[in-house]
Amino acid sequence: MYCELTERERAGIINPIFTCQPAGAQYASIGIKECIGIVHGGQGCVMFVRLLFSQHFKESFELASSSLHEDGAVFGALNRVEEAVDVLLMRYPDVKVIPIISTCATEVIGDDIDGVVRKLNAGLLKEKYKDREVHLIPVHTPSFVGSMVTGYDVAVRDFVKYFAKKTEPSAKINLITGWANPGDVRALKHLLAEMQVEANVLFEIETFDSPLMPSGNHVSHGETTIQELSDTANAAATFALNRYEGGKAAEYLRDKFDVPAIIGPSPIGIRNTDTFLKKLSEATGKPIPQSLVRERGIALDAITDVTHMFLADKKVALYGNPDLVISLTQFCLDMEMKPVLLLLGDDNAAYKNDPRLKELEENLDYKLEIVMNADLWELENRIKNEGLEVDLIMGHSKGRFISIDYNIPMVRIGFPVYDRAGMYRHPVVGYEGAMLLAENIANTWFADMEHKHNREPVLNVW
Ligand code: SF4
Repeated sequence: MYCELTERERAGIINPIFTCQPAGAQYASIGIKECIGIVHGGQGCVMFVRLLFSQHFKESFELASSSLHEDGAVFGALNRVEEAVDVLLMRYPDVKVIPIISTCATEVIGDDIDGVVRKLNAGLLKEKYKDREVHLIPVHTPSFVGSMVTGYDVAVRDFVKYFAKKTEPSAKINLITGWANPGDVRALKHLLAEMQVEANVLFEIETFDSPLMPSGNHVSHGETTIQELSDTANAAATFALNRYEGGKAAEYLRDKFDVPAIIGPSPIGIRNTDTFLKKLSEATGKPIPQSLVRERGIALDAITDVTHMFLADKKVALYGNPDLVISLTQFCLDMEMKPVLLLLGDDNAAYKNDPRLKELEENLDYKLEIVMNADLWELENRIKNEGLEVDLIMGHSKGRFISIDYNIPMVRIGFPVYDRAGMYRHPVVGYEGAMLLAENIANTWFADMEHKHNREPVLNVW
C-alpha cells in the first residue's frame, strides 16, 4: 500500500501540533459580534490561548476567565462563573452573547455549567439585567479528549443549536468558514459577491485585520450577528467548507431544519475551488460569472509558470489542521509535488473514513505516510534518524525550529503563524489564494536555491 494512515505509537507528546479543545471554542467565539467568552477554568486556559491568537493576528481582542483557584478545583467553582457573568455584563454594556466554555479541570470536577446557566437565567439576568438581551451558552470542551479542532467544531454546533430558529425560508446560504484567517474570509466573501449569493457567514473574523485609525487603535470583534445565527435555520443550504470545523453544525441544521448540508471541499487549490463554485451554483441556481473564469485563468497561468520547472517532484511534509493539510496535499499533487508525510495532531476516528484520504490511498503511486495523533517529533525524528528526505515543510510556526535546524525551507501556513509578517491577510482559499500560495511556495524554494547555490543561475533566465 502506497498511502498508509497510522497512529503515533510512542507515549507522550514532544512539541504538540495542536492545543486543546477550549482554544477551538474560543476561536469560534471571537467571530461573533457583541460576544465575549468566559472560559471556566484556570487563567492559563485563556492567557496562553489569547497569547497565541494575539501573536497570530497581531491584534487585541477580549476573552474572559472564571479564574479557577485551588479551592474551586477541589470543591467546585460555579460561584466564579456567576461572578464572571455579572462582572462582564457590568463592564461591557454591549455584550449580548456569553459562551461558558468548560476546560479539563472543570469537566473533571463535574461543574454543571448547564445548571449554572439555568440558574443565572432565572435569577441574575431576570433581576439585575432584565432590560438587556443576554444569551448564555454552555459549551463543553473537556481538553482530555479531542483537540482545538474538535473544540471549534463543537462550539460552532452549540452556537447554531442555541440560536437557529425557523421562520420564513430565505434564499441565503450558510457559509461556515472553518478555522480561517481574515484574508480567507475576505476571499470567500469576494467569491460570494461575484456569484451574487447572499450568505450568513459563520464565523466572520475579517475584522481581525483591523485598521489603526486617527481615533486610535481598536479592539477587534467578530462580525457574525445574532440575527444571522438565528437565520441559519431558514437558509437554502449550509456550506461547511471544512469537514472537521463546522461539519457538526451543518449536520444539525440538516437533521433539525432540513437545510441541505454541503460539507467540503475546503476551496484550497484550483480543483477544490472549482468544486466549491459548482456546488454553490447548483444550490443557488446562480451561474458562475465570467469574472471568476478570468480569475481562474490568471491563477492557472501563474501556477503553470512555477509548477513543472521548479516544483515538480519536490518532497513535502505537511502538518496542522486536518482539512487544511488534506486540501494542501491535493493542491501539492496538482502542482506535481510529492507530499511524503502528513501529520494530523489528533486521533479523530473519522479520519479512517475520510473520502479524501481514501482517494489518496487509491491513486498514489509512491509512498505517503499519514500519522494521526502526531507531534512534531514525528517529523524531526524521521529527518534526523530515519533518513526521510524532505525538500519543503508546510505548517504553522511551531515547526520553525525543524526548518532552521535541518536547513529545510518552510512555507508558513495554518494556525498559529507568528514568525512571518501579515500571513493572516493572505488568503489560501479561492483562485486568488491558490495563486498566492503557489507563488509563496515557489518564492520560498527560490530563496533556498540561492542560499544553497542549487541551480541558482536558472533564476536569471526563466
Ligand atoms: S489542557 Fe486543560 S489546563 Fe491546559 S489550557 Fe487546556 S483546558 Fe486549560
